[in-house]
Amino acid sequence: MPENSASAADRLHAVLTTLRASMADQISTAPSVREEHSHGEAMTAAHLPEAVIFAESTQDVSAVLSACHAHRVPVVAFGAGTSIEGHVVPPEYAISLDLSRMTDILAVNAEDLDCRVQAGLTRQSLNAQIRDTGLFFPVDPGGEATLGGMCATRASGTAAVRYGTMKENVLGLTVVLATGEIIRTGGRVRKSSTGYDLTSLFIGSEGTLGVITEVQLRLHGRPETLSAAVCQFENLHNAVQTVMEIIQCGIPVNRVELMDPVQMQASIQFSKLEGYRALTTLFFEFAGAPAAVQEQVSATEALAEANNGLGFAWAESAEDRSRLWKARHDAFWAAKALAPQARVISTDCIVPISRLGTLIDGVYQDIKASGLRAPLLGHVGDGNFHTLIITEDTPEGHAQAWELDKKIVARALALEGSCSGEHGVGIGKLDFLETEHGAGALGVMRALKNTMDPHRILNPGKLLPAGPAYTG
Ligand SMILES: Cc1cc2nc3c(=O)[nH]c(=O)nc-3n(C[C@H](O)[C@H](O)[C@H](O)COP(=O)(O)OP(=O)(O)OC[C@H]3O[C@@H](n4cnc5c(N)ncnc54)[C@H](O)[C@@H]3O)c2cc1C
Repeated sequence: MPENSASAADRLHAVLTTLRASMADQISTAPSVREEHSHGEAMTAAHLPEAVIFAESTQDVSAVLSACHAHRVPVVAFGAGTSIEGHVVPPEYAISLDLSRMTDILAVNAEDLDCRVQAGLTRQSLNAQIRDTGLFFPVDPGGEATLGGMCATRASGTAAVRYGTMKENVLGLTVVLATGEIIRTGGRVRKSSTGYDLTSLFIGSEGTLGVITEVQLRLHGRPETLSAAVCQFENLHNAVQTVMEIIQCGIPVNRVELMDPVQMQASIQFSKLEGYRALTTLFFEFAGAPAAVQEQVSATEALAEANNGLGFAWAESAEDRSRLWKARHDAFWAAKALAPQARVISTDCIVPISRLGTLIDGVYQDIKASGLRAPLLGHVGDGNFHTLIITEDTPEGHAQAWELDKKIVARALALEGSCSGEHGVGIGKLDFLETEHGAGALGVMRALKNTMDPHRILNPGKLLPAGPAYTG
């Protein structure tokens, strides 16, 4: 019988039989392990993989993809499962390929400010291990994500306003292609004008073009001085205007994050923040040499004051600073704690910063009309924010939340924005891709996918909405 006419169950069986010969103790079909790999942090319906394979090397990944390619079995790369658009939910008869055992730091080149790591390492672990070098890796999504997963979603976080996203901080990759072939992209140099930029192609590809096994990262010097402060505002527009002016003046703030009064109330309760009111709040961090920090602080304070800021409260000690930023990173859980039985979906719109105020006004109208509770917070220096829509965990509740999500995205797209600044497409944002990119660009993306993964085994159904049948 030709391979591709065998049933999906038979093909899967063939893959597992092949792989068990050399990787038996790395394959699990235990119900609890399959359950853990059936979903990320999204509201998207979960689906069990038939088996989970724990890769321990690039060669393991190659062996898995080569077998899956030969037998047409779908495979979903899994880092830490913190993605929030249904990215890691497996389709029917699929294998979940877990990279979390690949955690080695392969090289640290302190003089050149770069390092090479395996894809399953988390950014927290990397930073703890390289602390003595005086260097750090700045991209900081809220979840305990792997660096491979962060590459695959083109992640960013609170420090993107200063250091950029994964796109700016990855120099090269080792990638296993759908056929099992291993390639290296990029290198160690800061710039190169040779060839197509394959590194950028894989950054943000959500496991649909290849599986990343090694990452060459840019590192940065730990700043001499760090200083953090909070400024509250009676009026959200004043806060947004302050940030816009900070960016326009080129003040190199390390981080600037916004929470609206509803989110602030949730975070005060959840993170036991003392001395703050449930008002629109900006969290600032400044970094650099002491004199430079002082200059940034004075300029920022002047702008905030001119926009009716209610004064700066400083986090003086390292403990106070980390408590403040932990509260910011825990904002999702703080919102969730407002209604523990409910579900939370996070929007992730981004617009040119001058349009942020207009978008947020519209979003507040939509939230009010929906009758739902939806705290708002964001990486406001990038024009990117999240509305954490809290909804009942029922089909009607989910539909109501998706409806609100759709309205917010439509507003962002109408303002020349994007439906996702950092979380990615997964399943949750598929419906918006054609409006955002246009049919022509989507056609090029589909052609790339068809060339690189002709049997569509790599995370099928994610990132690209279904299009015309492939006839190549
Ligand atoms: C509380 C909370 C806060 C968050 N805050 C932020 C934030 O501020 N900024 C932000 O950007 N994100 C944020 N996220 C989302 C999430 O942390 C990121 O999307 C993260 O990059 C996912 O990494 P992961 O290792 O968990 O990947 P996973 O969820 O395991 O996988 C994500 C996608 O990448 C693919 N993938 C994983 N590993 C590989 C690999 N090695 N090779 C190829 N493909 C791979 C998967 O197939 C999937 O499509 C947050 C999530 C939570 C729960």
